[in-house]
Amino acid sequence: MEIPYAESFRIKMVEPIRRSTREERECWIKDAKYNLFALRSDHVFIDLLTDSGTGAMSDRQWSAIMLGDESYAGSSSYFNMKKAIKDILGFDYFLPTHQGRAAENVLFSVLVKEGDVVPGNSHFDTTKGHIEFRKATAIDCTIDEANDTQNEHPFKGNIDLGKLEEVFKKYPKEKIPFVCVTVTCNTSGGQPVSMQNIKDVHALAKKYDIPLMFDSARFAENAYFIKKREKGYENKTIKEIVREMFKHVDMMTMSSKKDAIVNIGGFTAFRSEELFRKASTFNIMFEGYITYGGMSGRDMNALAVGLDEGTEFDYLETRIKQVEYLGAELDKYGIAYQRPVGGHAIFVDALKVLPNVPREEFPAQTLGVELYLESGVRGVEIGAILADRDPVTRENRYPKLELLRLAISRRTYTNNHMDVIAASLKNVFDRRDSIKRGFKIIYEAPIMRHFTVELDRA
Ligand SMILES: *Cc1c(COP(=O)(O)O)cnc(C)c1O
Repeated sequence: MEIPYAESFRIKMVEPIRRSTREERECWIKDAKYNLFALRSDHVFIDLLTDSGTGAMSDRQWSAIMLGDESYAGSSSYFNMKKAIKDILGFDYFLPTHQGRAAENVLFSVLVKEGDVVPGNSHFDTTKGHIEFRKATAIDCTIDEANDTQNEHPFKGNIDLGKLEEVFKKYPKEKIPFVCVTVTCNTSGGQPVSMQNIKDVHALAKKYDIPLMFDSARFAENAYFIKKREKGYENKTIKEIVREMFKHVDMMTMSSKKDAIVNIGGFTAFRSEELFRKASTFNIMFEGYITYGGMSGRDMNALAVGLDEGTEFDYLETRIKQVEYLGAELDKYGIAYQRPVGGHAIFVDALKVLPNVPREEFPAQTLGVELYLESGVRGVEIGAILADRDPVTRENRYPKLELLRLAISRRTYTNNHMDVIAASLKNVFDRRDSIKRGFKIIYEAPIMRHFTVELDRA
């Protein structure tokens, strides 16, 4: 018989989690104004809100924590991080920041001005927020296939070169500070960008003399998909693929809470010394001195180890096979999600699972609340609440997709937990005909409203 697949780790430390009753959950979610972010984590059984900073660190990372050097300037931990960034990503210059959005804040403070446009592939919410906050515009150039959840295109994060060139032709070069390529593309479903597309975007941007940036939070998962899905890469190591990906870009931002498997941290890295110098000023203002920038020495040490572990094939295979396992369970029940399975999460197609809830009443949020009520599983809405209002007209924006994201934390849950998630979704799906109403907004912040929005039953 064929030997089945098993995880490439064993468990050395555990953390208890508790089931609750439906009555308890009904009170808690009402008190939270039906915003899943407002729940206490001990009122959640399986937490799929995000895979950001929620992973389990390894024994190597925890031992690196003990060796952290907390010197204000020039700590050995900074140099460990510098070496990992140079060895794995190939950049000579970098600035540590407290997380990914801080890296955006530092870099965009140098590069993005009022009236600019930043083309890219479904910019992440904080990325878009930092662009719009500077009165600039993010232009989504993702391929159209990404908008059809049932299309099995292997690289749905790809940029449409035609759309990108239109932007290059429409705006003068001075108005386009860079192209932002998100690897993998979180907002469209953890979907990867192919090496060929990276090369093509690089060539096109070069023709118009526009720099290229990676929003790199899940770059290692992107490399895994290149290895698995793109011809010519099957025999390359993840680290070789990563080096080749980054060869094409001028700079990057990183949320280390994702593929560097730490609980907090980030950085921005550059090829240009001049850009590094300019960004250093903002780093010192917003984050901290250039050799720690909002991170402790111990966290920089763990990050350096995490970059190494996160780009190992066995680790990535264990992780992504678990996401695929959940996808296969949902297939058994006919529950639609963004196909093929993404790197870090399943994005359930709420319009197909709850077809009777009107768009104006937020079907993906409704599905998130129903799933929580069912079994204490917490996901997150990637739909109209997240899409926010148009900055000019202030009208609600309705994206093509209404998704409930179920993000899987790294090295944290077992496949038994995946079974609970799938069965819970099946139960909600089975009673879809009785779920006709969703939610209305009773409070919202002027920007990035999803974090603090308050809702009531419509
Ligand atoms: C998480 C993430 C960010 C922001 O990083 P934080 O660490 O949460 O501030 C930016 N871009 C992408 C693609 C992300 O996934």
